[in-house]
Amino acid sequence: MSREHDYDVIVIGSGIAGSTLALTLARAGVRTFVVEKGRHPHFVIGESTVPSTSYSFEYLRNLCDVPELAAAHSYPGLKEAGCTGWPKQHFWFGWNDPGEPVTPEKELCFYALLPPRGPDYHANRADFDHYFVKLFPKYGVTYQDKTAVTGFESDATGARLTLKPEGETTERTVTASYVVDCTGHASFLAKKFGLRKEDPGLSTNSRSIFGHFQNTRFLDDILPPNEEVGFLRDGGTIHHVFHGGWIWGIRFDSGVMSVGITLDRDVWPLDESIPAEVEMRTIIDRYPTVKAALGEMVPIRPIIRTGRVHGGTDRIQFAVSSIVGERFILSPHSSGFIDPLFSTGILLTGAFLNRFVPLAAKAVKDGDWSQERFRPLETTFMREIEMVDKVVGGMFRSWRYGQNTFRQYWRLWLYVGSAMYMTRVAAPMEDPEGPGVFAANIPSVERLIRRMHAIIFDPAFEPDSGTKQLKATMDEVWDSSHGPGLMDWPIEPGRTVCIKFLATGETRKAQLQMLKWWRGLVAENPTIAAKVEVGRVARWILENRRRRTTDAQKVEESKKGDGVFAQAYSIIENIRLGALQGPFTGHPGLLWKAPDTAARIDEVARAFDVHSLEHDQVERARQAQKPAP
Ligand SMILES: Cc1cc2nc3c(=O)[nH]c(=O)nc-3n(C[C@H](O)[C@H](O)[C@H](O)COP(=O)(O)OP(=O)(O)OC[C@H]3O[C@@H](n4cnc5c(N)ncnc54)[C@H](O)[C@@H]3O)c2cc1C
Repeated sequence: MSREHDYDVIVIGSGIAGSTLALTLARAGVRTFVVEKGRHPHFVIGESTVPSTSYSFEYLRNLCDVPELAAAHSYPGLKEAGCTGWPKQHFWFGWNDPGEPVTPEKELCFYALLPPRGPDYHANRADFDHYFVKLFPKYGVTYQDKTAVTGFESDATGARLTLKPEGETTERTVTASYVVDCTGHASFLAKKFGLRKEDPGLSTNSRSIFGHFQNTRFLDDILPPNEEVGFLRDGGTIHHVFHGGWIWGIRFDSGVMSVGITLDRDVWPLDESIPAEVEMRTIIDRYPTVKAALGEMVPIRPIIRTGRVHGGTDRIQFAVSSIVGERFILSPHSSGFIDPLFSTGILLTGAFLNRFVPLAAKAVKDGDWSQERFRPLETTFMREIEMVDKVVGGMFRSWRYGQNTFRQYWRLWLYVGSAMYMTRVAAPMEDPEGPGVFAANIPSVERLIRRMHAIIFDPAFEPDSGTKQLKATMDEVWDSSHGPGLMDWPIEPGRTVCIKFLATGETRKAQLQMLKWWRGLVAENPTIAAKVEVGRVARWILENRRRRTTDAQKVEESKKGDGVFAQAYSIIENIRLGALQGPFTGHPGLLWKAPDTAARIDEVARAFDVHSLEHDQVERARQAQKPAP
């Protein structure tokens, strides 16, 4: 193969991974070609994000200077891009027993990002994916859709792809220095090179049924008010959990709701003789609160059940033995998948892009695409998949033993989520060996995840003593000296637990406790402590302050113009205040007192100055924020 290639990089597939990768590579001066089998817009599943997903895309936007990635890091950004979505402000969990409604002591809630940083978002992927593809001409990405990649060859000098345009009989070839397989579940190169593991070696074992629906009801129209939750329940992602699975409810501002059920295959084996919709409705009907919310829903497109679409097996999990090959790499969703629980799909993609794009730009510059350069990405990705599987698989397992056991595993997820977000904010995200998804590469958290997993998967696990053991393990990392006191709840569920994350105002004490806990966590992990830069945390805080001002200005400007940004904010405010109007519901809702954001941010910034962190770095970051004289 000649060294003169048509392109530096060819990206196969233009889903969220392929499109955002192509835009950022092209912005870095990499000659990029994207080939896509289908045509946008089209239905795609994977619609809910988490704070660390938003932050990964915000980081990528700043790293690569692609302002349009704002659509992938908060709901107002998504609305400015003209996409259908929803401001995700929390994760709501309701524990369901057959025949019994959800009561306040069966509710759990964990706040996601709130304005000005957030909120996180639900994205209708048809709009969302299409938006990024439409930006290709602006960034100089060459694009060919309705064309499948049918062949791949590589040697030490480059790669050659065979393309087959739809409806044509002739194929053509195109060459590049490097190829990134972003074909998602189709996993073109993994299959070609036999990299997909026959037995993925994962503890999660689930299948799924999902679709888009109209005529769903808001939980606040069904359940009694619960001030502890503090938001409209549907203002976030709904998780109904039960023995053997969970149901997601992902709202969009179009009035459509994405609803899916994910089932433990050991508890609910697939029976092909039962149609997907019948199976879905049977499960919904078992649980009165779910039935009240979703019993009358009407599908607006065919319901999908994993099996036929997933290469003949109903199991959603898959994994590969390697993600790096000669002149190619596999994107996260082409390499492995665990479960929709905790929305780790796009999160893994964002984390991968943070690491891969700078490495690829450097490879072009150096003319060196050797596999060793990309191997650290593989090592970290494999650890990430292991951590996600252990948390998710353990969570599924906990549902077999009831709500008490589930609550202890839920604590693990909170701990891991907090450790991941805060540590990733503080460390350079392009570092392939830095803190990863679900706290991969943070040794003390990895150990905790493995310990909890070993307990719940112990064949001799017995609910009473096993749950106590899970609690004792979590209590160890959450003692009052370095753990958020909020986590110190009794083993018997007697009340709703609502965890208000860093970005909320009314939990000043919790924020300070959390910072103290986080400092302890970093100190416990010298490899991470060496990577943490306190100035990054200070900049994160200052950016909140800046964004609060710029968003207020943008709202005013928007009112004079197309009104889109102002409308996005008004939807957020309405959900927060529960005064939902118009297309959503007439429900009066709950009152949630908006915090004084500026005072809150000052408080956090002061906590950094006073308690620990290098005052100079904070000051320097603050000076850097000041406009030039
Ligand atoms: C049931 C379910 C629920 C999920 N829910 C969530 C969630 O809530 N949040 C979350 O973060 N993630 C979720 N995920 C994961 C999420 O769907 C994926 O992580 C995400 O869609 C991956 O995006 P991608 O761009 O890598 O792949 P895709 O979106 O699958 O894009 C792949 C593209 O490649 C193209 N392609 C395929 N083969 C070829 C070929 N041979 N030649 C050319 N083009 C080709 C396809 O047409 C497609 O456009 C969920 C997954 C499942 C299965």
